[in-house]
Amino acid sequence: MTTAQTGTANLVQVLQFYDSLFVTYPFHEEKYGHAQFGWGGGMEHQTMSYVSSFGWGLLTHELAHQWFGDMVTCGSWEDIWLNEGFATYLEGISRERFPSQVQTQWYDWKAGKISSIVSQPGGSVLVDDTTSVNRIFSSRLSYNKGSYLLHMLRWKLGGDAFFGGLRNYLNDRQYDYARTTSLQSHLEATSGQDLDEYFEDWFRGQGFPSYKVVWEQSSQGDVYIQLNQTTSMPSSVDFFEMPVPILLIGADNDTIVRLEHTPKRRAVQLELAI
Ligand SMILES: [Zn+2]
Repeated sequence: MTTAQTGTANLVQVLQFYDSLFVTYPFHEEKYGHAQFGWGGGMEHQTMSYVSSFGWGLLTHELAHQWFGDMVTCGSWEDIWLNEGFATYLEGISRERFPSQVQTQWYDWKAGKISSIVSQPGGSVLVDDTTSVNRIFSSRLSYNKGSYLLHMLRWKLGGDAFFGGLRNYLNDRQYDYARTTSLQSHLEATSGQDLDEYFEDWFRGQGFPSYKVVWEQSSQGDVYIQLNQTTSMPSSVDFFEMPVPILLIGADNDTIVRLEHTPKRRAVQLELAI
């Protein structure tokens, strides 16, 4: 009883946070509650999540499913990441938003997801065997890599286009089913970016890139950066086109430059005063 009261005490502010990012809690006329059950983990029953315990990660994950899973449900097991990748990511950004409430901080949480994702070279977020329960609910692919697809889209598109696209997606598909193509088209509409290549590489494709940076600085202060990548499954994806942030530390200022990494070798010249 005490554990439940303590654990849920701060969840109202998370609900308000999700409200502010997306749309009003979809079942606000019916309230929201928890039922404790003896299985492991949780189950996001609409308006009444079943939970085995009352930790931050589980509660924020199941709450997120009220939007992503219950209000809008994946249209195929192939697209289970539309439920689980989102719920995992919202747990992450609730850590980013409320650092004083959590033990595992946002940075460490992200590092944990990455180490899970890269623990094997292959595997796609698209579920390629919908007859296997273990494959559908793969924590590495559907949950963790799915959440990272969203985090990378937020970086690639910018927060305004990313969250604006998600609001349009929820409003468009509310109380209905959705496929990944629907999410893609809403994010393309708000950002003006063509995301075919992104979803081909990251959703249908397998693996991940590893980067190598070579740099030198001339006596005049010019900095030359060469960025190279190899991929973990070249037979599936031989190059991931992604904007890559590079932190330059100067005597007076630091700055992050964004390199649009493309397969063709090309030179980019930037004038920076740091
Ligand atoms: Zn879930």
